[in-house]
Amino acid sequence: MSESTDCLFCKIIKGEIPSAKVYEDETTYAFKDINPKAKVHVLVVPRRHYANVAELAKDDPAELAHIVEVAQSIADKEFHGAYRLVFNTGLDAGQTVFHVHAHVLTGETLDE
Ligand code: C5P
Repeated sequence: MSESTDCLFCKIIKGEIPSAKVYEDETTYAFKDINPKAKVHVLVVPRRHYANVAELAKDDPAELAHIVEVAQSIADKEFHGAYRLVFNTGLDAGQTVFHVHAHVLTGETLDE
């Protein structure tokens, strides 16, 4: 599915809801999480709508690899390349927005 009309992150990507953009290119958008869990907390999302990381991995593995590259480049800039990458997958794992997003946590030493 390429777009979902009632998806919050599709609206952010289209600029219908404001966000603090960190990076964008043809396929990918990254913005600051509104409720940061680390000094730097960025969400990296594909422009196309996939519900979760498993769907993305199956349908567009190159985009998943690209999301990791974008995460790496953010961490290279913010914290000598160290970061945590999290994909909450499923309601019971804490996923609240069903448009796949990588949480990039960096900018400081992270607790285990
Ligand atoms: O993994 P999960 O689905 O819980 O992550 C959703 C994330 O989206 C949350 O960390 C939340 O703070 C963030 N969010 C945001 N901007 C919004 C709505 C949610 O950064 N407008």
